Amino acid sequence: MKKRIAILGSTGSIGTQTLEVIAQNPDSFEVEVLTANNNIELLIEQARLFRPNVIVITNSCHYDQLKEALKDEPIKVYAGKEALQQVVEMDTIDMVVTAMMGYSGLIPTCNAIKAGKHIALANKETMVVAGEIINRLAIEHRVNIYPVDSEHSAIFQCLVGEYNNEIEKIYLTASGGPFKGFSMEQLANVTRVDALKHPNWDMGAKITIDSASLMNKGFEVIEAKWLFGLKPEQIDVIVHPQSIVHSIVQFRDGSMKAQMGLPDMKLPIQYALNFPDRLPSTFKRFNFLDYPKLTFEQPNTKNFRNLALAFEALNQGGNMPCILNAANEVVVQAFLSDRISFLQMPEIIEQIMEKASYLKNPNLEDYIQSDKEVRILTANRIKDLAKQKI
Ligand code: NDP
Ligand code: MG
Repeated sequence: MKKRIAILGSTGSIGTQTLEVIAQNPDSFEVEVLTANNNIELLIEQARLFRPNVIVITNSCHYDQLKEALKDEPIKVYAGKEALQQVVEMDTIDMVVTAMMGYSGLIPTCNAIKAGKHIALANKETMVVAGEIINRLAIEHRVNIYPVDSEHSAIFQCLVGEYNNEIEKIYLTASGGPFKGFSMEQLANVTRVDALKHPNWDMGAKITIDSASLMNKGFEVIEAKWLFGLKPEQIDVIVHPQSIVHSIVQFRDGSMKAQMGLPDMKLPIQYALNFPDRLPSTFKRFNFLDYPKLTFEQPNTKNFRNLALAFEALNQGGNMPCILNAANEVVVQAFLSDRISFLQMPEIIEQIMEKASYLKNPNLEDYIQSDKEVRILTANRIKDLAKQKI
């Protein structure tokens, strides 16, 4: 039986690479659902090629054009956020790949789990915002969550066969991004274009900025806590600019296991889709002689304040990671549209973390309200700063 896959965010970097993996393994997988936000040209092309049962465009204004373009195909076309939230419940889906951007993943992921669908989780923001709720739902509905994020896939691969062996510590590797080693003076002048050039990975715009500011690594620390049941002090970040060692687990006897390979997201995607069996692949192989030196260094949390803020949010718990995420989404959009500078991003996030309403034991509705509150607070703060400039 082929595994029937729904890809939420099929037009993005993870979405298109998931489709490449599926195209390479037509006997193992078939596409049941594809979704996008705006990119209908690519969604139409994907729909014609992969013949899903259903497609969803979340921005409803594209619906008529999409429906018209696919009128000769037996594909159901839906539009809107609610459609995305409902489509994951379809009986004909075995696994949902969450490859959409940011907070938009939260409710569809919750609904998919409630409907008993296994999750291949790329959308780390869902775990950052509400990891505790996601874990509780997954246990209740006997759903497995397979990490797609390369570091978490590495940890997951290192843990295979170690069922009863306690983790002492994990090391999440970080490339350091395009501004590794920059002074505060240099960081004050970096632009959106500089930040969008990642040295090792080709990703969507939002996560590329998060990688440059180290917020991505901060999110991954929070994601790791929930995926692997760790305490904050068991999670360390180590900068490894070559991105060959994808992460490391240290066990209680001091032994360390690392997972390695050339940076290629198709590998963790394929592993998540077909766990526990490894499928063959033609992905480029690592050659030791091309990398005579693998190096490791401490992250600089003074200049890259976001990583420290993420640890602070993790230690405070409650809705603080949700506050961190919402503030970050707003400042990243502002940075991408040249409204604030690179260094203003952590500055504003820190101010919002102090200002937003803190809740110790939030439920799902609290998270939804908290996300709304923080987006307004952050947008207002950015407006105030713009006024001060004039
Ligand atoms: P992209 O920006 O490349 O793609 C995002 C996808 O989500 C697109 O299909 C986009 O549609 C859709 N989308 C955007 N906004 C919304 C919305 N509000 N509602 C519904 N769908 C939306 O992102 P990436 O593929 O890079 O990242 C996706 C997720 O995976 C993120 O959470 C990221 O952190 C995570 N991730 C990514 C990695 C990578 O290598 N790229 C590595 C590890 C994790 P449209 O194209 O129409 O705009
Ligand atoms: Mg990662």
